[in-house]
Amino acid sequence: MKIFNTLSRQTEEIKPLEARKIRMYTCGLTVYSQPQIGNWVAYIYSDILTRTLIANKFDVYRVQNITDVGHLVSDDDGGEDKMEKGARREGLTAWDVAKKYTEIADHEGYELLGLLRPNQLIPATSLIDKQIEFAQELSDKGYLYKIDDGMYFDTSKLTDYGKLARLDIAGLQAGTRVDMTGKKNVTDFAVWKFSPTSQKRDMEWDSPWGKGFPGWHLECSVIARESLGDQLDIHTGGIDHIPVHHTNEIAQTEAVTGRQFVKYWFHNNHLKVNGTKLSKSLGNSYTLQDITNRGYSLDAFKLLVLSSHYRTEGNFTWEIMQAAQNRINNWQAIADRRWQTEIVSKIQPDISTQIIAKLSDDIDTPGVLSVIDRYFNNINESNTAPSPDSLQTIHKILGINLLQADISDSQKNLLALRNKARNEKDWQTSDKLRAKLLNQGIGVHDLSIGQVWYRSA
Ligand SMILES: [Zn+2]
Repeated sequence: MKIFNTLSRQTEEIKPLEARKIRMYTCGLTVYSQPQIGNWVAYIYSDILTRTLIANKFDVYRVQNITDVGHLVSDDDGGEDKMEKGARREGLTAWDVAKKYTEIADHEGYELLGLLRPNQLIPATSLIDKQIEFAQELSDKGYLYKIDDGMYFDTSKLTDYGKLARLDIAGLQAGTRVDMTGKKNVTDFAVWKFSPTSQKRDMEWDSPWGKGFPGWHLECSVIARESLGDQLDIHTGGIDHIPVHHTNEIAQTEAVTGRQFVKYWFHNNHLKVNGTKLSKSLGNSYTLQDITNRGYSLDAFKLLVLSSHYRTEGNFTWEIMQAAQNRINNWQAIADRRWQTEIVSKIQPDISTQIIAKLSDDIDTPGVLSVIDRYFNNINESNTAPSPDSLQTIHKILGINLLQADISDSQKNLLALRNKARNEKDWQTSDKLRAKLLNQGIGVHDLSIGQVWYRSA
């Protein structure tokens, strides 16, 4: 199995640190507002990555953090803490905001989208003591210095700082126009931020350096180390995390352990809406509820996401959403042929091996969807039925469920009556029965091979 490794900029065969075992870490959501569809893209791709690893017989152990403190509005340690901002917006405490959106994200991700639950989901606030210990280690090793608003990491102490993003440090340093607010280097970042003297924060803790809260990157270094050890096989996240967040996770962890933090970095590109960025002000920051309110299924949304390769930019429009829904309805109708044995009795061969092979080649989701399209088209043209094993694999590895149960006996009876009426050219009865079936969500096609039913959307 191969994936593209951002660190090497190469597609590499996966060779874990320990045979067959994968230690995998994913940066979780910042739980301060309603997640929108763009937030789910990273988790949908890392879910497919996990399922493909499992299909390749790897023993996968996954950890994901929940960012419930310290993620500031600006990635360079500026602006307000997003949690405190959410608290002000909703008239709640930061703690209540974290609880509310942790529950919402949990429900949406694992129940609505059906993503595999990581082995551990760890909120940043649950490991504050470990984060302070880790910062103390950095301080003891001489990596930290103090300025007005916090303890900062001196990135000039690492010879390979910025290797993941291939940052041009000299260029950044020369081109900087931002107020450095006492930072020694433009790339230096906060490990511990001090509480402002003017206002009381909902979330703050005592530390050897003063009352405050951890810098955003610290939680990932610490949660990963506490749950998975000093070295990980795979770390996933969005490409926006490459230059700052992941670069700084590497800096902190490698400064403490002296060992390579992560072997394979897996980064996904973003989903745009109508070719532009999702934003509240543009009115296009759709949620999963907006999708289901318009009558689309979340399996169809997953299909829309997977129709772009994880390393290319995706696009969402309601037209593309409709096309994805049509594609899935078509698949479902053909999958249902297996119940219609009076019409189709021949089962097509299982394509599980081809599905797994495509995904094992750098998670080629557009490629795997084409394989499935070809399979179903062929079934449609040859009046045959799909193998149940193929449908199981589509469910298990893409998380798309085409395994709906057979229709009921009374519905089958209505179909038989309609068929009889048609054969007797009693069009009135036949149309009445068609309408009755449609009311129950069963559509009927009259094909050359006879009457074929499908689930109407
Ligand atoms: Zn992270």
